[in-house]
Amino acid sequence: GTAAPPALEVRDVTVRFAGLTALDEVSFTVTPGTVHAVIGPNGAGKSTCFNVLSGLYRPASGSVRLGTTELTRLAPHNIATLGVARTFQNIVTTQGTVADNLMLGRHVLSRAGFAASALRLPGAVREQRAHLARAREIAGLVGLGDLFDSPVSLLSYGDRKRVELARALCLEPRVLLLDEPVAGMNASERVRMAEVVRDIRASLGLSVVLVEHDMGLVMRLADEVTVLDFGKRIAHGTPDEVRQDPEVLRAYLGT
Ligand code: ADP
Ligand code: MG
Repeated sequence: GTAAPPALEVRDVTVRFAGLTALDEVSFTVTPGTVHAVIGPNGAGKSTCFNVLSGLYRPASGSVRLGTTELTRLAPHNIATLGVARTFQNIVTTQGTVADNLMLGRHVLSRAGFAASALRLPGAVREQRAHLARAREIAGLVGLGDLFDSPVSLLSYGDRKRVELARALCLEPRVLLLDEPVAGMNASERVRMAEVVRDIRASLGLSVVLVEHDMGLVMRLADEVTVLDFGKRIAHGTPDEVRQDPEVLRAYLGT
């Protein structure tokens, strides 16, 4: 029903870069446990939107709320520990094993624990083991269970994108922000990623905000879609609704 409070509420967010309005009073809400896609042509403001949600950019005006918590002025690591985790459009993960990369995600959860484990306190060793066990579980959820101890540099591109996803999941988010998760993937890797996103949404009860160019993926995965064009929200609805919207067709066809 409509009575449930949104997982994430974006209200009237405006972002400007020296003369350019990258986001112009954009609003949308993410219903708990759903996938909300943000789509639009190149330069529409999708990545800027993610950078606001994850705290990398401060909007000139407007607000972002996680439940009743105001996120708008918080630093990225505070937003992450409150339960909003993101992946990046361009991944750079090439160092260490899958396990190493996932443990970096766990350490954000417990900085004190991390410092203590460097001193090898008994409680910290226990905590470290628990983190490792959870990281292994999460690797399994994204289909990387067998590659847990493999160097990331030896993995395929599609596997590396799922390492990036798993690292975000290691923050135990309530809201997961995925910036073009299938960019650069071949057809079979795309199908695999779609399955993984659907699985983790269900098994972890996550709310997902998805920025994606691949319309097939958006239509398969999204419950709701917000369409941006030149920083403005031009449409909102179910995938079927926005697909037939004349404004959306105009934005995509450039007529
Ligand atoms: P999308 O992800 O939808 O392709 P972006 O959010 O990356 O769009 O960009 C929206 C607009 O803002 C573009 O015109 C882009 O050039 C501009 N822009 C994005 N980031 C910056 C920045 N850090 N400095 C200046 N302009 C930027
Ligand atoms: Mg982008």
